[in-house]
Amino acid sequence: MTDQSKYLEDSRLIETHYGEEYENYYNAIVPPVFLNSLNVFPSIDAYFDSDKNDKHVYVYGRVQNPTVRILEDKIAALEHGTKAFVYSSGMAAATTAVMSVCHAGAHIVCVRNVYGPLNTFLTQYCKEYFQMNVTFVKGDLIEEFEDAVTDNTDLIVLESPSSIVMSLQDISKVVQIARKHNAKTYIDNTYCTPIFQNPLDLGVDIVMHTMSKYIGGHSDIIGGVLIANDEDLLKKLMLHRELYGGILGPMEAWLAIRGLRTIEVRLRQHEKNAMAVAAFLDKHPRVKTVNYPGLPSFPQYDLMKKQQKGNCGLMSFEIDSTMEQTKKFCQALSIFKIGVSWGGFESLVEMPYARMTDQEASWLGASANIIRIHCGLEGDDLLIADLEKAFSIL
Ligand SMILES: *Cc1c(COP(=O)(O)O)cnc(C)c1O
Repeated sequence: MTDQSKYLEDSRLIETHYGEEYENYYNAIVPPVFLNSLNVFPSIDAYFDSDKNDKHVYVYGRVQNPTVRILEDKIAALEHGTKAFVYSSGMAAATTAVMSVCHAGAHIVCVRNVYGPLNTFLTQYCKEYFQMNVTFVKGDLIEEFEDAVTDNTDLIVLESPSSIVMSLQDISKVVQIARKHNAKTYIDNTYCTPIFQNPLDLGVDIVMHTMSKYIGGHSDIIGGVLIANDEDLLKKLMLHRELYGGILGPMEAWLAIRGLRTIEVRLRQHEKNAMAVAAFLDKHPRVKTVNYPGLPSFPQYDLMKKQQKGNCGLMSFEIDSTMEQTKKFCQALSIFKIGVSWGGFESLVEMPYARMTDQEASWLGASANIIRIHCGLEGDDLLIADLEKAFSIL
């Protein structure tokens, strides 16, 4: 096998070359999609002893697959983790992480602006079926975590920057608190990708990404991944994937490998476009607030600089307008398409809280008419012109 260690020094070499085994597939520069459900063995004993002989064991596709394994090796290396496991969606990864750490009756501390479906999973499913209890924190003040975490806390759930309002948590300080109470920490690192933030280096136990956003990068797959260092934890994350049956399919793995090849160039461009758009919004007279951690006026800019190397194309803002006018503003955009999700090539706009009461939205730190945009790869001049056109109808 080729010596892989030479690729580990630079993330760009991990994305392009690490984890591939050209010699195992006729030296093709791109690995095949291994569309097999099982692998065969020369003898009964060879089957039973398969895990003793080889670093990579392939027996059955719900457990492991060669295309999937290449993707996992790349992501583990990018996140500075021992191993990564990929799942059929970000939520499959997130729920497997929770169920691998928390026991019935567990206490969980979670940031308010965590991805919505994970909030629902914790507060409804885990509560109803496993009597778990969640304490929510806004997350920007470390004292809140100190007050919320108890010796009964199994897990602290972070997302930094968080969904919709992009607020940050001081990751290393939260880790210190967690360790004092023997609680595990989990972070959704989708916003930063492994390129802009590596929480395992800050002591976090489990890092999660949905691959449906920048890792796939082209709005054509659903997938998720968990990365960790602790061997016991990794064993559980792997076993529970096998038992729940939520492994990523080989075709999606292949597309995610292809997405990773260009993740750095894409992200630099998303960041450049988003910085220009955020600066434009920041000085626009109709804009009340812009939530983009890359703006020097962002309240947690110093913390951002401390723990992140950059920011992606996602931001939110509020305009000085009614709900109806704000909807018209969004509908007047033409390059920004109305739709959920983000992280692909295309620019998107949505009003995630538009059907909430003011009280519900304010608990989440925003007004009901907050606008979220994803700056795609179309070009910052075109995106700003599109926004200018929409402002002109107000
Ligand atoms: C989209 C998203 C998820 C969920 O990922 P799926 O692949 O859709 O399950 C989780 N976290 C964040 C921050 C997301 O944006």
